[in-house]
Amino acid sequence: MLATIKTRVKAMFPSVADAGVVSTWGGYIDSTPDAVPVISPVDSIGGMFVAAGCSGHGFGAGPGLGHLAADLVAGGAACVDPTPFRMSRFTDRSKIEVGDF
Ligand SMILES: Cc1cc2nc3c(=O)[nH]c(=O)nc-3n(C[C@H](O)[C@H](O)[C@H](O)COP(=O)(O)OP(=O)(O)OC[C@H]3O[C@@H](n4cnc5c(N)ncnc54)[C@H](O)[C@@H]3O)c2cc1C
Repeated sequence: MLATIKTRVKAMFPSVADAGVVSTWGGYIDSTPDAVPVISPVDSIGGMFVAAGCSGHGFGAGPGLGHLAADLVAGGAACVDPTPFRMSRFTDRSKIEVGDF
């Protein structure tokens, strides 16, 4: 994978083609199968809510995610339609498009 990245960077930025790699590391990314966050009550556990799975956009999406999560926990009107973010989409036979990361 690193070789592929280096090839693409060289193609896009020829001026840094000879730059070396100082260090590398690996880790998890918080993703869901469809790359859409889960912001939702957990239907099978009353009072439990999940707000996770931002798939590499958690810093940017965090404020909106937090706003919707707070609305759901408080039980009032939601700031946006929460349907696309429901956890049950993975179990209610909804068609899931595998996300592109
Ligand atoms: C390489 C990389 C680049 C990224 N770049 C961007 C970007 O440019 N823009 C952007 O918007 N987003 C980016 N993101 C995504 C963003 O970092 C995440 O979406 C965001 O940090 C998720 O926040 P979170 O609080 O939901 O989860 P996390 O930040 O993962 O926090 C979860 C916390 O829970 C703790 N924890 C886990 N399990 C347990 C347990 N059992 N008990 C107690 N504590 C536990 C963990 O230690 C961690 O501190 C990037 C992510 C990665 C990996």
